[in-house]
Amino acid sequence: MKITKEQFKKDFRKRLREKFAIELEDSSETEQLVALGALVQAYYSDAWTDTWKEYLTNKKKQVYYFSIEFLPGKMLKSNLLNLGILTTVQESFKELGINFSAVCKAEPDMALGNGGLGRLASCFMDSIASCGLPGNGNGIRYDYGLFKQKFVDGYQVELPDEWLKGGNIWEVRKESKAVNVLFGGNVYLRENHRGQLKPVYENPRILRAVPYDTGMLGYENDVVNTLRLWSVEIPASEEYKYQSIEERRKLEDLTAVLYPDDSSEQGRVVRLTQEYFFVSAGMQSIVRYYKKIGVPMEELYEHIAIHINDTHPALCVAELMRILLDDEDLSWERAWDITVKVMSYTNHTIMAEALEKWPVHMMQELLPRMYQIIQEIDRRFLEEMAHLADQDLIERTRIIKDNQVHMAHLAIIGSHSTNGVAKLHSDLLRTVVLKDFSTLYPERFNNKTNGIAQRRWLQLSNEPLSHLLDKTIGCSWRKNPEDIHLLMNYQNDEAVLTGLGEVKWENKKRLADYILKTNGVAVSPDAIFDVQIKRLHAYKRQLLNLLNILTIYFELKDNPKKVMEPRVFIFGAKAAPSYTYAKTIIKCINEVANMINNDESINHRIKVVFLENYNVSLAEMIIPAADVSEQISLASKEASGTSNMKLMLNGAVTVATLDGANIEIRDAVGNDNIFIFGLREDEVYRYYESKDYSAIKTYEQNPMLQRVLNAFIDGTIPNIYREGQEVFDSLIKYNDEYFVLRDYDAYVETQRKVDATYRDTSRWQKMSLINIANAGRFSSDLTVERYAEDIWKIDSSKIIVGK
Ligand code: PLP
Repeated sequence: MKITKEQFKKDFRKRLREKFAIELEDSSETEQLVALGALVQAYYSDAWTDTWKEYLTNKKKQVYYFSIEFLPGKMLKSNLLNLGILTTVQESFKELGINFSAVCKAEPDMALGNGGLGRLASCFMDSIASCGLPGNGNGIRYDYGLFKQKFVDGYQVELPDEWLKGGNIWEVRKESKAVNVLFGGNVYLRENHRGQLKPVYENPRILRAVPYDTGMLGYENDVVNTLRLWSVEIPASEEYKYQSIEERRKLEDLTAVLYPDDSSEQGRVVRLTQEYFFVSAGMQSIVRYYKKIGVPMEELYEHIAIHINDTHPALCVAELMRILLDDEDLSWERAWDITVKVMSYTNHTIMAEALEKWPVHMMQELLPRMYQIIQEIDRRFLEEMAHLADQDLIERTRIIKDNQVHMAHLAIIGSHSTNGVAKLHSDLLRTVVLKDFSTLYPERFNNKTNGIAQRRWLQLSNEPLSHLLDKTIGCSWRKNPEDIHLLMNYQNDEAVLTGLGEVKWENKKRLADYILKTNGVAVSPDAIFDVQIKRLHAYKRQLLNLLNILTIYFELKDNPKKVMEPRVFIFGAKAAPSYTYAKTIIKCINEVANMINNDESINHRIKVVFLENYNVSLAEMIIPAADVSEQISLASKEASGTSNMKLMLNGAVTVATLDGANIEIRDAVGNDNIFIFGLREDEVYRYYESKDYSAIKTYEQNPMLQRVLNAFIDGTIPNIYREGQEVFDSLIKYNDEYFVLRDYDAYVETQRKVDATYRDTSRWQKMSLINIANAGRFSSDLTVERYAEDIWKIDSSKIIVGK
């Protein structure tokens, strides 16, 4: 949109008066934020309704992306950027004497997600709208987002994230679109007057699902899609059943918290209730809408695609069946055909504990109609496959077995597409984890490597680099991220390389100031900034990083004159509150940081900084400042990773195992511009088969490793009596499940190479440039276009400029 500064300033003052009956001069930053939010919403409100109308008139097929997590972070700057008025607002605020950054900071992070999976969903929302694709999100409006992390004595403490306390400036409550969702009670089938078997519900618990819609703005294209998040309420007809505050609270707790664990299901009944709640509400509202506009149910698959993001929304399959059978009177065969055509599923992990399974009795009690339908899907699956010789295979792939409902099986059997999120991951799905299914349905399996929205992760978070790119290669990359590749033409241009160095230094200075303010640790922007930011998980191997830090520490103690670049090791990570081992690692990192940062004899050669409360906003500050990107998971365990792509785009050089999308990053930049080390995935599998890995042998054969591990239990690292022993035991007594010790030597050696390479400044800057220049291919714009073409069969109604 186009607006002059004068008009904007007038509009803004007016909004402030309307909202708060206050003059600009007397307003607080929060009031300014709320007024600006309302104004921005008004600016895009016509585009929002026009987008819907356009999809409707042109009968555009739409995708609905069901995800139990969305992790957008702050939305103000992103909305202003996409509307094309960011600079106007920034300059107007300056003229009005308002601190724009402070107003942005006043917006709470919308953190309705744990990490990669939720953040991917949000990058997709941005890209789907920016590519002009008809697509919407469907999820849960948690009252509390992912917990706020504090460190007390080096331990993680979790505080509630009250992100809604000051109101949410972007959402619109859609009272008129509320639906009821039924739980529990008894369900039996009775023949109606037309001889059809229909369910009769006895004593169900009825919950009201109220949607809150948020506009998802496309980049400078007037497209505004919708993210619909559901909140629970008591239906008016049921008020009398909830007489005490406790009863009401218990019900309202359903959408109170996001489960702070993305790899195992907790709070089991509540979690399953949450899953069905947003699935049923979403499916009902979608079908109701298409029915209202006159779409014959038989043709539903020509109008909608439903995407199941990980197994949490897998009940979409059974719920659409329920609606088509019970409400729309379709035959089972017709309903099934439509459902399979409509549904698609993304698998996000090969970790067995993250493949959801629900006990049969729980599903029967909580979701009796769902269970009946799943039972029938399972029965028909067995019938359909009965002709196959391999009866074991059928037994392994059925949905209900061992008294559990296997949600991944439901998602695969009930959809036409199952994809992994990086080439290696998709290959492992096909050949190992879901091998049986790929034998049954080879045509359903495909790969869609994850991607990142370069608007947020470069344009917004790294303004200095964005300006350098504009100056060097022109501005087309802002619309077409692949054009960043034009930077390759400047890999030997001293001025550009120096410019990149200056940009990095400026970003490092900003982070150094933040570190001093928050952690009280002085770090120099001249040091290497070595970054590992991601959830704390054993397979991600933050511990390997820590072992290398201790190795360098001991080398410096032994030889204070050791030649090496000063380095700052920066961590950001939350541990699931119930994941004791991950919390133990946090404590150990914090204590090693204390030990090293306070050791005068180390003379500032290395520093260790663990930043509290890693979230999207913090990522936006850390990533542009990183020199080294640590992507050191045990090969085969990280499905894709996306921080690896973000760090690369911002000029960090990656230290990586050949895992997830690291492999594709290596392919993009070439072996000379990445530091690869460690076991490959086939070697890991070989160890699993041969069972001949001995951690203790590795330990006994390596004196430095012994010294490093002993430091955990001999008092060298202070204040970790219990935690040090736990870490030591995990490696030695329990034989090092994630092969940390096996990869230790290779990692330490690689880090020495990193050090030597960094000392050759122009070599390093060239590597950094090559990483930036080749990151365009990881744009989520490209990823969603592949989903749109291959899986969802939707297309853009807009001609996107620059494409
Ligand atoms: N958390 C946040 C806030 C992120 O921005 C990202 C990705 O950049 C992740 C988690 C996932 O990180 P990774 O891909 O390293 O697991």
